[in-house]
Amino acid sequence: MAEIDCGQQHLTIEDAIHHARTNLGGNDVEPFWGGMAAINPGRVVGYQVTSRRRWRLDFDPGKGVHVNEENFDAPPSRQKVVHAVTPAAFDASGRPIASDMQVRLYWNKWTTRYGTPGRGIFCTQCDNWHINGRCPF
Ligand SMILES: [Zn+2]
Ligand SMILES: [Zn+2]
Repeated sequence: MAEIDCGQQHLTIEDAIHHARTNLGGNDVEPFWGGMAAINPGRVVGYQVTSRRRWRLDFDPGKGVHVNEENFDAPPSRQKVVHAVTPAAFDASGRPIASDMQVRLYWNKWTTRYGTPGRGIFCTQCDNWHINGRCPF
């Protein structure tokens, strides 16, 4: 499914997360665990609002720092929304200096709320790990 841009400028990660949360229309209920073994194993990368709505903080060299909003209750064209965070630093030729350092700091901060996991059981209902072994949704 294609991703769309949220249409707003975000100068900070917090602001991008706030916009995603507002769109999803709910509170963070359950940590969302990174599933990519090489990049973020055992790291909380965002939060689930329901079994079908979630956001996660991500980085890639092309998009830079961004928040992925996923809402599988929305119409197909609006299920995946990207909240790009405006780069804070540029090199001499005006290209953004892209780094995942800030993203990793956030992941680590969120992960420490749950101790050193043990991610519990993998739930096929919502495609996520539940640390206490049962699905809250
Ligand atoms: Zn946004
Ligand atoms: Zn679940």
